[in-house]
Parts: sequence; C-alpha cells; structure tokens
Amino acid sequence: MAHRLQHIAILGSTGSIGRNSLEVLRSSPERFRATVLTTNRNIDLLEAQTREFRPKAVVVLDPERASVLRSRLKGLADVLSGSEGLSAVVSRDDVDVVISSLVGFAGVRPTAEAIRHRKRIALANKETLVAAGAFITSLVREYGVELLPVDSEHSAILQCLTGEDPARVARLILTASGGPFRTTPREEFSRITVEQALRHPNWRMGSKITIDSATLMNKGLEVIEAHWLFGLPAERIDVVVHPQSIIHSMVEFVDGSVKAQLGLPDMKLPIQYALTHPDRLPMNGDRVSFSQLGQLTFFEPDRQRFPCLDLAYEALRAGGTVPAVLNAANEVAVAGFLDRAVSFDRIADLVRRTIDQHRPVAQPDLDDIVEADRWARRTAHAAAGTVASS
Ligand code: MG
Repeated sequence: MAHRLQHIAILGSTGSIGRNSLEVLRSSPERFRATVLTTNRNIDLLEAQTREFRPKAVVVLDPERASVLRSRLKGLADVLSGSEGLSAVVSRDDVDVVISSLVGFAGVRPTAEAIRHRKRIALANKETLVAAGAFITSLVREYGVELLPVDSEHSAILQCLTGEDPARVARLILTASGGPFRTTPREEFSRITVEQALRHPNWRMGSKITIDSATLMNKGLEVIEAHWLFGLPAERIDVVVHPQSIIHSMVEFVDGSVKAQLGLPDMKLPIQYALTHPDRLPMNGDRVSFSQLGQLTFFEPDRQRFPCLDLAYEALRAGGTVPAVLNAANEVAVAGFLDRAVSFDRIADLVRRTIDQHRPVAQPDLDDIVEADRWARRTAHAAAGTVASS
C-alpha cells in the first residue's frame, strides 16, 4: 500500500515527547517529515534539531531567544516567536498533523487553533482535555478532525477499541505504575525530596508529569482525559495499580471479555501509533519477554495516601470549570514543589483548597475556562505563598 508523506508540526519538540517524536520521524523518513518545530526557551537543542530535520519554520516562545536563534540559523528556517508564532505555524498549508506536546494549560489555544485549521491532532498534552474537554471535543466534531491520544494509557485503550463497537464497552481500566512512593508510609510524605520524586521507576519523562505520577494526579488527569476521548462517565473508568507498566491499559466489554495492550514502557510506540492508526509500522527495539518478566501484579490504588486521584474524579463529576481549576492549582502546586517552596504532601491540599473556594461555571466557553484558570493560579499561589513566574 502506498502511503502519502505526512508533514508534521511538533509543538514542544525539545521536551521529552518532542524528542521521542523526532526519533519516530527519524526512523521512517519516507513516511514522516518535520515541517515545524517549537520550543519555549531551549534554542540550542532547537538549533541542532533544525539542522538535522530541516523544518520550514520554527517557533521560540521567548522573543529574545528567538532573535538569537534567527541570527544563528541565517535563513535555514523561518523563526517566529510568541503565541502568535504558534498560531501562525499550526495554520500552515504544509502541515498535516500537529503533535501537541506542550506542557500544561499553554497547550489549549494552539491545539484549538490547529483543530480550526483542520489538522489531525496527536495529543500528548492531556491538560488541554482536562481543562477544556467539552470545548475541544465540540471543536473536533465541528471541524471533523481526528484527535488521537499519544498518552500511553489512552493509546492502549484506542488499540483495544479498534475494530470494536463503542456501544459494547462496559468499562475502561487505566493502569498506574503507582510511582516511586507506592509503598512509602504516609508519615514520610512531608519529607519527600524533589530528587526522590523525580525518580520514576519505569518511565523517563518531563519533570511536571513525573511529579504528577508520584502524587497519582497524573492518573486522575488521565481519567478525565479518557472521559473526553472515549465518552464514558466517571463510574465506568477505573484505575488499577500495576507496578511493572507492561499492560498500558485495558477495556472490558459487555460480555465480560477484557482486552489489554501490552508493551515495554517506551513512548515511541504510542507516538507512532497516533501517526499511523489504524495501521502499524515496524519499530526497532526490545520486545516483551514474558518468561523474563515472570509475573504481572495488580493492586487497588491507596486513595488515602494519594488523595489527588479522588480529587480528579470529583472534579470530573462536578464538571464545568472545576477540572480547569484542578489542573491550574495542580500546575502551581507542582511548580512550587519543584522550587522547594511546597512540600510533597501539600500538593493535594493546595488543589483541594483552591477547588473549595471556586464558584464553578456550569457550561463554560473558552473565556470562562481561561478566567477560571487565571483565578485558580492566583488563588493557589496565594495559598502556597509562592509568586507567579510570568
Ligand atoms: Mg500516561
């Protein structure tokens, strides 16, 4: 079968997902070409990526660094800056697919812009669906675009659902590694250091998502993400702790049959699958050896020690602007923890206190969501005693 070359914009190409995406592109140059690459501030890596992948345009969010890169690249690629730059590149005619791998709420507007320009979306930025799920999914329907998950759990669910009737799904079962503190007693949580929290047992990822994995907020955000991607209510999305991270998630059907997707923990597979679904491409690398693994184990998540999981379920059930507030307060709390201004066990407290003070808007438009996000950041900063960085 002949396949058309896909032209790809990677928003956030210098981050963990962005770098993995470029490895996927590097291994199949006949299928994928990078047309656009972007970074917040890492112009050294973006310069190296530009020299290798020869995109048509690059964006540096920071305007001063953009002009430094412009002088270094000497016309090798157009260099744009700021959020206007991001909006401009996702509307280019020579972009077919946008890999949205910005971190946090910053991903919402460029993703919405890409949908409006009818680009296929490979979504790694789960915060976009958490904060603005109703808005984004209605845009997806309105513009008739495909939005495919890059998150490994949601990619697993998509792989299990492919070829099945969505009406025959009983429930989704998201697996969680449990993070580095799966067996740490609650009394020790206040003394957890940044270095300990950044040591994820199975996955190498960016710092924000690694902290979210340690608090289980990441799994909570993924429950909300799964709700918007697959249309199931909170009661039919479960979480099970599976420390080996070999089963990436499961789907139970109405007849009791369960399908699981398994593989080694490597983000290149879900990234590539988002680009080729429902087709697959060969991929090099290690394979699962069941006899070496010996056993796969499963546990109920500990909701007392990891209250962020239930906070996310409550936010999903409350709806409206509450998930946006959960997300924003969590971003502030995690940044505070990484700056050593907030202790590990206060992350959940800050999120809960912020949600408790919020007056939700039931059917928010994008302006309501942006306003809820700003309000939650101010409120969480005030409670944490930290200062907004920009
Ligand atoms: Mg995930």
